[in-house]
Amino acid sequence: MIDIGANLTHSSFRDDVAEVVARARGAGVESIVVTGTTAGESVHASLLAEEHGLYATAGVHPHHARECDAHTIDRLREIAQHPRVVAIGECGLDFNRNYSPHPDQERWFVAQLELGIELGMPLFLHSRDAYPRFSEIIRSHKPQKAVAHCFTGEKDELHAYLDLGLYIGITGWICDERRGQHLVKLVREIPPERLLLETDSPYLVPRDLRPQPKARRNEPAFLPHILRAVARAAGRPPEEIAAETTRNARDFLELNEPRPSASAQRPLAA
Ligand SMILES: [Zn+2]
Repeated sequence: MIDIGANLTHSSFRDDVAEVVARARGAGVESIVVTGTTAGESVHASLLAEEHGLYATAGVHPHHARECDAHTIDRLREIAQHPRVVAIGECGLDFNRNYSPHPDQERWFVAQLELGIELGMPLFLHSRDAYPRFSEIIRSHKPQKAVAHCFTGEKDELHAYLDLGLYIGITGWICDERRGQHLVKLVREIPPERLLLETDSPYLVPRDLRPQPKARRNEPAFLPHILRAVARAAGRPPEEIAAETTRNARDFLELNEPRPSASAQRPLAA
């Protein structure tokens, strides 16, 4: 299995990230994509990926859109040249917390979509309470490959994203008896070739996990718990879903093909 989204640069992993990665591997999670949420954190993510044999993304989360400046996209472009960086993001819109003004969020979301398209890299997208604006932006920019990570929306939102060709990332939200029940039904409507699994560690500890982890920290070793919840919801064997979602992650992130070298991807200087 591959955890396509874990925030291992978070301070809660500072002292034991090697053990966390070892526990994940022991639980059958062969790799992890470390999420980049600011330019600085994306550098950190790429270094963690290099040190522990993982992968990383390079991007700015909508919460941090207000901190972007004229150098941000150039920095991300440079970080994306790291051989362990496999996607641009996480980027998108978050109209739930509204930590950054909407115009800033939209501007930097679009700039990162354009960067992903320019580099020919998949996009790791965040959308919270931002439908349908999020779909309108995707529709007008048409990234080649993108995942709506940590999908928590309703049926119309799911089908809009599927129609746009997006992959759908499911987290332990589906294990939440208070706010994730709708996902239990919806997961059956995700075509098997579009489903990806993730923990979004250290956030979103599955609420039905027993015992609950210390300090309520989620970690990639709990991905099989999410797999089992998805399998129950889909009415299919977990082994089958594990094989499919792993294959999807490899296809989505192009883990089987070596990336063209940085210089080959960069447009020629005028
Ligand atoms: Zn997110």
